[in-house]
Amino acid sequence: MRKNIVAGNWKMNLTHSAAAQLLEGLAAGSYPEAVRMLVGPSFIQLEQSQRILADTSIQVMAQNVHQAAKGAYTGEVSTEMLTSAGIQTVILGHSERREMFQEDEALLTQKVDAALAAGLEIVFCFGEKLDERKQGKQNDVVAQQLEVVLSRPQADWSKIVLAYEPVWAIGTGETASPEQAQEMHAFIRSLVEQRLGAEVAEQTSILYGGSVKPSNASEIFQQPDVDGGLVGGASLQAEDFLAIANAF
Ligand code: PEP
Repeated sequence: MRKNIVAGNWKMNLTHSAAAQLLEGLAAGSYPEAVRMLVGPSFIQLEQSQRILADTSIQVMAQNVHQAAKGAYTGEVSTEMLTSAGIQTVILGHSERREMFQEDEALLTQKVDAALAAGLEIVFCFGEKLDERKQGKQNDVVAQQLEVVLSRPQADWSKIVLAYEPVWAIGTGETASPEQAQEMHAFIRSLVEQRLGAEVAEQTSILYGGSVKPSNASEIFQQPDVDGGLVGGASLQAEDFLAIANAF
């Protein structure tokens, strides 16, 4: 059975003390055992997060990683730096990285390969922009973005989590309707099935991301092909994030 996952992307928010407060709130909270929970702090807060969450089953993931093994890449972090620090999961392909840091498909292919080769699990994000949806192109855009991972049939697919994040719903308060989310997730699963077979498609968790909050999580998570959420804004409050994990 594929897992239900609630993953928080903290982005570039929270001071050290605010992060500690959030982590302590999460550590004190409860959520169903069947739900896998992850938080994605900034690099500088990874160690602090692991320490505060040590006695919980909440896992800590990185928001990014560099494609090269090592070397003169000022300001960057390698896969080995992450794995040697006990980090097992990394977000790749987020629309903010695609848009603001020019992460195109060629670069993302390198990052995906580097992360998987290092044994990291990836949360691979993709999704259409508003004008693309208005033109009815969302399936084509998603299929093209997914090629980065679908073209990796030899990969260990137990280490790949997919996150459909329509760009028009990220940080905007706009959410895809449960029907829109289900329609796209079913399409994504069908693409995985065509290329990797029914078993991999059944086992792959496909998360929805885009203004998920306690008030809408339940109806989105009830959709048969939605296996959880990648959450931005609402993951910055322990109470909200826990409420989302409890929405299954
Ligand atoms: C995100 O950035 O991955 C995201 C889904 O953000 P938000 O929940 O704030 O829309």
